[in-house]
Amino acid sequence: MKASRMLIATLKETPNEAVISSHVLLLRAGMIRKLVAGVYNYLPLGLRVLNKVEKIVREEMDNSGALEILSSAVQPKELWEESGRWYKYGPELMRFKDRHDREFCLGPTHEEIFTDLVRSEVKSKKSFPINIYQIQTKYRDEFRPRFGLMRSREFIMKDAYSFDLSKKGLDESYKNMYDTYCRIFDRFHLNYKIVLADTGAIGGTGSHQFMALSEVGESDIIYCDCGYAADQEKAESKCDAYKSNEEMKEIEEISTPNQKTIEEVSSFLGVDPKDVVKSIVYRDLAHNTLVLVMVRGDREVNEIKVVNELNIAEHELVLSSNEDIISLGTIEGFVGPCNINNAVILVDEEVSLMKNIVVGANKKDFHLKNVNFGRDFTGKVAQFRKTESGDICPVCGKLLKKERGIEVGQIFKLGTKYSEPMKCTYQDDNGQIKPLVMGCYGIGITRTMSSIIEQYHDEFGIKWPLNVAPYHAVIVPIAYHDEAQKLLAETIYDKLIKNGVEVVLDDRDERPGFKFKDWELIGIPYIVTVNKKANENVVEFKTRSTMVKEEISVDEAIERIISAVKAL
Ligand code: ATP
Ligand code: MG
Repeated sequence: MKASRMLIATLKETPNEAVISSHVLLLRAGMIRKLVAGVYNYLPLGLRVLNKVEKIVREEMDNSGALEILSSAVQPKELWEESGRWYKYGPELMRFKDRHDREFCLGPTHEEIFTDLVRSEVKSKKSFPINIYQIQTKYRDEFRPRFGLMRSREFIMKDAYSFDLSKKGLDESYKNMYDTYCRIFDRFHLNYKIVLADTGAIGGTGSHQFMALSEVGESDIIYCDCGYAADQEKAESKCDAYKSNEEMKEIEEISTPNQKTIEEVSSFLGVDPKDVVKSIVYRDLAHNTLVLVMVRGDREVNEIKVVNELNIAEHELVLSSNEDIISLGTIEGFVGPCNINNAVILVDEEVSLMKNIVVGANKKDFHLKNVNFGRDFTGKVAQFRKTESGDICPVCGKLLKKERGIEVGQIFKLGTKYSEPMKCTYQDDNGQIKPLVMGCYGIGITRTMSSIIEQYHDEFGIKWPLNVAPYHAVIVPIAYHDEAQKLLAETIYDKLIKNGVEVVLDDRDERPGFKFKDWELIGIPYIVTVNKKANENVVEFKTRSTMVKEEISVDEAIERIISAVKAL
């Protein structure tokens, strides 16, 4: 490709809207442009990368034995009613009506569609197991679309759905996808961790996430040197036995005027903040009830665990209003579990083991001391605290650590969550009708593109790995009008093209510095400069990933590029 014929939309300045590197560089390199919040156009260079990312995913999915289809983004409400998700799925679901008042949504994920497809198209039991996938545009009305392609409202996902006759079959299909995902993310040269995950709105019995490690990631990973790793929402820890061996003392009411927060109460009473227990009141919108969650003073509530315990959707749990708190017969800042009769009480197991805790007295300006679980209050006990670094590994007992990651993929064992209500069944050898056992598997194609940039960039721009770079190489003649330089540049260009190299010849009438800046920003892996030494058959060869420049012979430059591309 001649650079003069290309749409090179590079920007000098960092656009205001972008804060993280991948977003800045996608815009500055002229790969994408925002249409509206969370919705982007892909320009030619960006689309070339996107296509290559898709190609790698497609190759590995095909190799795994999965079958590709393409379904519509438009999905009828009726199918979502069958699965029960039309009401469960929150405001992220983009819903609309046609001119006949029929309701639809734009698919955020496609479980219903694939379940419907299999129940109507796959007639014989012999056809199972089957895994069907697509690479297709998804819609989610994210509350806060941000970070460019990282969290957008329209994005491209690879989604696959497996259908097996048994749980054991699902285990095999799941393992096959797990291994396939490892091959895919290895091919993207991503530094990633595989972590245990919560199943969220998609549901099911088990799940892993593939996390590209990055400071700008929105997921917190809790992990241990022993190999345990989980998304923070899912992570568990061994209970800290803090204050579990004390003798129970007699309960005492103490005056704590205007002391509301854990810090205020603990310093007023001269105790450790850990001795004071937080009582946080939520409203469960699904059951129309109030829920009081108790965690130690230095802890946070893991709301996902609360949501799972209540068996509701994430958006159905909200912090209670002041009126709610008053309706419990208590007052904000002084809430405690004693004598609360009209709320579900969830007690973190650490709190259930602690003796002589401090809690609110449900009375303005008073707290209670020496309160004990079992004697003074009860409730459902489980892990409702957020696991943090420094907590005890549930597997080996060492201390857990924490780091940030970008969720690039997630796999789920769905079981019969969709096949049962949607009657996606088969007849077994005894003539019994049974639901198929399903799995589902997603990769954020566009988010992966951003994640690669997060891990492969420097102060000059993007450093694309060769297999996803928009072009493999660029030839930059210092003076294109010079006959010798022009001739050599074109000879190299022709040879590379003949050998399957995707190459640009920068024939633009611009200063060399301007041209180099563009290609370094765009991230072309090999930059070949044709200069005064054209007569000697010598070029300057720059490897973008290291920025190392070498003077080598033309033949060697050509050979290096061809062999790197052939090895892909
Ligand atoms: P998140 O927790 O980040 O919102 P999710 O768990 O809801 O993601 P899944 O339903 O597991 O996402 O979707 C499969 C994959 O699609 C994710 O692993 C991610 O790579 C990608 N993805 C999800 N939401 C978005 C989005 N808003 N923008 C870009 N990619 C997304
Ligand atoms: Mg996910």
